[in-house]
Amino acid sequence: MAELKANGAAQATATTARPQTAPAGASPPYLWLTGQLTPWAEATVHITMVGWPAIGAVFEGIRAYWNAEQGQLYVFRLPEHLSRFAQSMKLMRMLPSLTPEQISAGLVELLRANAVREDAYLQPLAFTGGQVWGSRAAADQVPEVLITSRPSPSGLLSGRTSTAGISSWTRISDNVMPPRIKALPNYANSRLASHEAQRNGYDQPIFLNTAGKVAEGPGSCLFMIRDGIVITPPTTASILESITRASVIQLYRDMGVEVVERDMDRTELYVADEVFFCGTAMEVHAVTKVDGYDIGDGKTSGPLLNALERTFNDVVRGADSRYRGWVTAVH
Ligand code: PMP
Repeated sequence: MAELKANGAAQATATTARPQTAPAGASPPYLWLTGQLTPWAEATVHITMVGWPAIGAVFEGIRAYWNAEQGQLYVFRLPEHLSRFAQSMKLMRMLPSLTPEQISAGLVELLRANAVREDAYLQPLAFTGGQVWGSRAAADQVPEVLITSRPSPSGLLSGRTSTAGISSWTRISDNVMPPRIKALPNYANSRLASHEAQRNGYDQPIFLNTAGKVAEGPGSCLFMIRDGIVITPPTTASILESITRASVIQLYRDMGVEVVERDMDRTELYVADEVFFCGTAMEVHAVTKVDGYDIGDGKTSGPLLNALERTFNDVVRGADSRYRGWVTAVH
């Protein structure tokens, strides 16, 4: 990083006309960069770092939830996110650098330094430098690890819903760009589908995989409920191994509801009683229409999702003692 920082400093003096500040109100005081808290405006790299290094970059999306009653901030399933982060780095052939424990400590340090006392979204990002340009962007290197935090109010229990449409874009697959890796370039697939969905009047796309079976959303996994049974595609269906998905499966099973992981056809969605997305950013999020077919009453979320959402809200805010092991207290 020394070289990058030096380059960044040189760039700063060469372009003094342009102040190195983020848009007003958008940036917290600090981010965390490979082992140290760094003032936001000082975390610069050389302009040639823009672009190619991103094709090898992997990241995590993590939520922290504020519990006003306890005056405490809880990070949801932090060890699980950091273990998936390590898995993504390994698959992208990054050399081991910081341990999950070091990254975890950095993340908590960052939340404290930024005095975060509200719901927040954290994004650790691992990337290797720009020594090799082009599609062979550096491998077998120790990555830099950047962590940013930003306010992100939870939408749980707000009654929000989305409509969805089956995308004309196919989900990337394990032998093309493995969805199991939380890699930045995978999101080009998500971006194409999201913009297509919006232009077609839907809030969200739903991807089918190369086998024509239901895969996931652009940044979330998908569940449907038919006749009281909760169903979701398996982790071999071209999906991210989602931590929210695993949590939802366990919460339903603990509630005594049957959960099945199996391939899903698109027409099953059209006749499902309930459909919902789940993911760190989406949390649990009802889908009221798929391709214009009403799900349930076509307007509101159904009873099994409502029951889950109430429990989920308590769990993520550290208010359910049964799942206290799923949250990490910050303050
Ligand atoms: N699928 C994709 C493509 C995602 O980007 C995400 C968000 N990380 C998910 C599923 C949900 O994963 P998680 O529950 O771990 O956030």
